[in-house]
Amino acid sequence: MKARAFSYFRARTIDEALAAHAGAGDEARFIAGGQSLVPALALRLQAPTILIDINHVDELRGIRREGDRLRIGALTRHREMLTEPLIAEFAPLLRAAAPFVAHPAIRNRGTLGGSVALADPASEFPAMVLALDAEIEIAGPSGRRIVKADEFFIDLFETALAPGELLVAIRVPLFRSNQRIAFDELARRRGDYALVGCGMIATFDQHRIADIRIALFSVGNLPMRAISTEAALVGSRLDAERIAAAQTALGQDLAPAESDDVPAAMRMHLARVLLGRVLGRLGEAA
Ligand SMILES: Cc1cc2nc3c(=O)[nH]c(=O)nc-3n(C[C@H](O)[C@H](O)[C@H](O)COP(=O)(O)OP(=O)(O)OC[C@H]3O[C@@H](n4cnc5c(N)ncnc54)[C@H](O)[C@@H]3O)c2cc1C
Repeated sequence: MKARAFSYFRARTIDEALAAHAGAGDEARFIAGGQSLVPALALRLQAPTILIDINHVDELRGIRREGDRLRIGALTRHREMLTEPLIAEFAPLLRAAAPFVAHPAIRNRGTLGGSVALADPASEFPAMVLALDAEIEIAGPSGRRIVKADEFFIDLFETALAPGELLVAIRVPLFRSNQRIAFDELARRRGDYALVGCGMIATFDQHRIADIRIALFSVGNLPMRAISTEAALVGSRLDAERIAAAQTALGQDLAPAESDDVPAAMRMHLARVLLGRVLGRLGEAA
């Protein structure tokens, strides 16, 4: 199958991109890396009449420190998560997740902004943005706004982005020396979307967990924080008993739906196994 005919507009600024979208309404789509949108066009799951290319908008590029946050431009490619020193130093959870995102060819083009805007519940970066307590910078016809990651993901492929709004950047708190991260996922083959995935960032006080944020993906309609599990860990040392308690608590956070390829009970089991594994790594890192 081939994509339906569409026209193309190359935007040079955020304002140009927003104006082009406003002019075309529901019929327009922004295109960044195209790694999700182009397959959707080819399969005619989407059939916009105009694509607004944002790849030449310089304001959407760049990674820089801004106060106590790292600001990562929407056009940052998945590959840059692996190569950029600022990511390794100040956002190591994104660095840890990046090798699990698809394959090198897709990582060369796919963007952080595209991944988070799309909000595929099986994707690594939306969940890690949630774990990191990120802020999402948005530009729209009525101005700029910032949305916390906790409020950004609403439902299946649904986010706080209104039609015609552009995700401009993601701002994550700078990683600190008393923090540790851990990430892993279970997939049938390396590079496939995960059956279940988990990433976390913890702040330690001596050897006790002072604060922890855990996010899972491929477990429901949207990336999910494991709030009860986090509560079961705060104030404790990360020993085998506490990890087992956290695995039990995960039952309060997740209720995977039945699906033909992965029964709900199996996904829950995999999530508990993975949680134990990732917490074990976090303990080793601490
Ligand atoms: C074979 C294959 C395997 C893959 N495996 C994985 C995987 O394992 N894990 C994973 O996470 N992803 C995977 N992907 C998806 C890939 O990571 C995509 O790059 C990513 O999901 C979307 O980023 P993009 O820049 O390509 O967005 P695009 O495809 O250009 O756009 C996706 C959607 O987001 C919108 N959009 C893009 N940028 C913005 C913006 N700045 N503001 C507002 N809206 C925007 C577009 O309008 C579109 O609706 C895979 C893709 C393929 C083809």
